[in-house]
Amino acid sequence: MAHVETLASVRSFLERTHRLHIHGTGVDAQEGGSLPVHDPATGTVLCHVPAGGAADIDAAVRAARTAFDGPWRTMRPADRERLLLGLAQLIEDNAEELAQIETLNQGKSITYARALDVAYTAECMRYMAGWATKLEGQTVDVSIPFPPGTAYRALTLREPLGVVGAIVPWNFPLLLAVMKVAPALAAGCTVVLKPAEETPLTALRFADLCAEAGLPPGVVNVVTGLGHVAGAALASHPGIDKISFTGSTEVGKLVGRAALDNVTRFTLEMGGKSPFMVLADADVEAAAAGSAGAIFFNAGQVCAAGSRLYVHRSVFDRVVEGVVRHAKAMACGPGMDPDSGMTPLVSRKQLDRVTRYVESGIADGARAAYCGSTGDQPGFFYPPTVLVDVRQDMRVVQEEIFGPVLVATPFDDLDDLVRKANDSSYGLAASIWSRDVGQVMGLIPRIRSGLVYVNTHGVIDPNFSFGGDKQSGMGVEMGKAGVEAFTRIKSVCLAYADGRQPG
Ligand code: NAD
Repeated sequence: MAHVETLASVRSFLERTHRLHIHGTGVDAQEGGSLPVHDPATGTVLCHVPAGGAADIDAAVRAARTAFDGPWRTMRPADRERLLLGLAQLIEDNAEELAQIETLNQGKSITYARALDVAYTAECMRYMAGWATKLEGQTVDVSIPFPPGTAYRALTLREPLGVVGAIVPWNFPLLLAVMKVAPALAAGCTVVLKPAEETPLTALRFADLCAEAGLPPGVVNVVTGLGHVAGAALASHPGIDKISFTGSTEVGKLVGRAALDNVTRFTLEMGGKSPFMVLADADVEAAAAGSAGAIFFNAGQVCAAGSRLYVHRSVFDRVVEGVVRHAKAMACGPGMDPDSGMTPLVSRKQLDRVTRYVESGIADGARAAYCGSTGDQPGFFYPPTVLVDVRQDMRVVQEEIFGPVLVATPFDDLDDLVRKANDSSYGLAASIWSRDVGQVMGLIPRIRSGLVYVNTHGVIDPNFSFGGDKQSGMGVEMGKAGVEAFTRIKSVCLAYADGRQPG
């Protein structure tokens, strides 16, 4: 099929002079300077965005504080809900434009950009809008015995934390941003968003939509810029009440340390090396298709990617052959072509990283059961690759590659499987493929992972909390727990004359 035709509105968006969004207006970076934004399918420069710095972050935090102390905090929850529902509608109304911008900037398939990135972003905004009117505290019985004649009633109020710093990576730029912004706004917080330097464009378009939806100035601010400059300034800013980070474990630790220095609350959603476990009784065809989807979707640039395949020895060859068959059917091509099975990696840097990992695996003794071809593509393409004959101590087994590279190992029994699956510093997602409910239910508590899927892998829903164990994260996003993470409990104790006592 031919490439999707680029909308005129996308072309004019790319051609405009991009600015930071602070207090409802577009502003230039105070120190000047800009960053190029690339099209991963061709390697060419799409446009430039401002290189925001510490002074811009400071201005954005002050704008967010003013909005929090002003119109946002005093707005009735029902009015906040209505505004967020309007914003969800605007995301849907502009869905094709947002999907095309995401595809051109991130490289991903337009099909998934439409069906997942943008559709789920709108759904997430709508779901979170509903929480604005449903957050609640508790009444609490207390037994305070003195002074005589005094009774007590305690209660908890759930209050918004205040100003939230949101830092997001480049693999699902709009979606991961809104997975923070939507619950923060629903809870009554205001936000400073720092998108990844590789993929800042949908965040800037989203800021337009926030203004169009009628959000008061300063409620959502967007500062583009480098991670170690703008991101670090946001994480360490004493004026924020929470930092919500999604990205690598290495950077997440820096963000967590910076937050702790200010005793700022933080949520960390970080890397993964998730086991995909196929038991002897599994539906082999379904497991092979599931495994291919779990590692090759979005060119493997997925935190929850099923990047370690463990298969019972009795069906190992059949499952690996099935995965390879799916890999062979994936033609490398640009995301704007809906027929492309394998879209490019986000950047030259990511391509070099994936290339180096596979070379290290081969040097360590792994064998490529399959390594496709990228054809004559000019951009940052890496072919779907399946490595076998791997050992647990290899870097390709232990470290997050974040590309379309699967490592596959047989196991002999469930103890062997549990040992191998848990032999990782990460603990984000895991999946178990089996028709034996008893075996599955026995395995779930033995796997150290924030998420466990059964006969599926990596699906998400706004009502399904998502978060990592071990070095994959602290805290959760989405669901009720995800919105409550943007609130604090205020405990209140009322004393009154006990009406049951004789007067
Ligand atoms: P990254 O950690 O390099 O960057 C993430 C964000 O942090 C970017 O906005 C970047 O500019 C910023 N940043 C970089 N250095 C910083 C610093 N010193 N201080 C503050 N901010 C800084 O990650 P990436 O390469 O953009 O994304 C890939 C990683 O994200 C993978 O490890 C992946 O597993 C992880 N990820 C996790 C989840 C999850 O939900 N657990 C989801 C998606 C991606």
